[in-house]
Amino acid sequence: MGILDKLFGGEGGSAAPTYSYVKIHPSVDTGVKPATPGFSGGTLKCNCASDPVVVVVEAQTAHNHVCGCTKCWKPDGAIFSQIAVVARDKVGVKENADKLEIVDPSAAIQRHACKGCGVHMYGRIENTGHPFYGLDFVHTELSPQSGWSPAEFAAFVSSIIESGVDPSRMEAIRGRLKELGLEPYDCLSPPLMDAIATHVAKQSGALN
Ligand SMILES: [Zn+2]
Ligand SMILES: [Zn+2]
Repeated sequence: MGILDKLFGGEGGSAAPTYSYVKIHPSVDTGVKPATPGFSGGTLKCNCASDPVVVVVEAQTAHNHVCGCTKCWKPDGAIFSQIAVVARDKVGVKENADKLEIVDPSAAIQRHACKGCGVHMYGRIENTGHPFYGLDFVHTELSPQSGWSPAEFAAFVSSIIESGVDPSRMEAIRGRLKELGLEPYDCLSPPLMDAIATHVAKQSGALN
């Protein structure tokens, strides 16, 4: 095989570009790990060295994804957050609840953050008419347990530019997301967008 084949992928070579140098989020940068069958929940702990807030999640999460919006909490240096949903009646604060405050009480998702370290422990929707009412949003990377449902897609990808990511990096970032099997969307994934639209249509009467 000639040098050009080696560089640009002839027979036996690979032409696929690799974007493994692009960092998305620590939980996915080395590959997305599958869920543990039968996993039924665990605890989430904030980053405070003493008196951490501990939240109990008594179920497996769903719809886990990386999110590029400017509202979700991200670990230091990460350009995406990682966020999943779980039924709100499965989420409870076990320790140091007094350290929690709501980041923005006027937001649809009320993100309960630790006043000490700033980590968001859970996001809750109080508007019963909201399409996602009944679901809490959690960051499973805060858990000492492994086996949570893995990230499945990337949401609000273009929004990372609003956080200061140079637009010239977007091709490599979307390339990396695809390499990781995290299809990049600039809103939510089609199933979740369909769920929102269905909810709206039922409220308006367009659907029964
Ligand atoms: Zn904390
Ligand atoms: Zn987000």
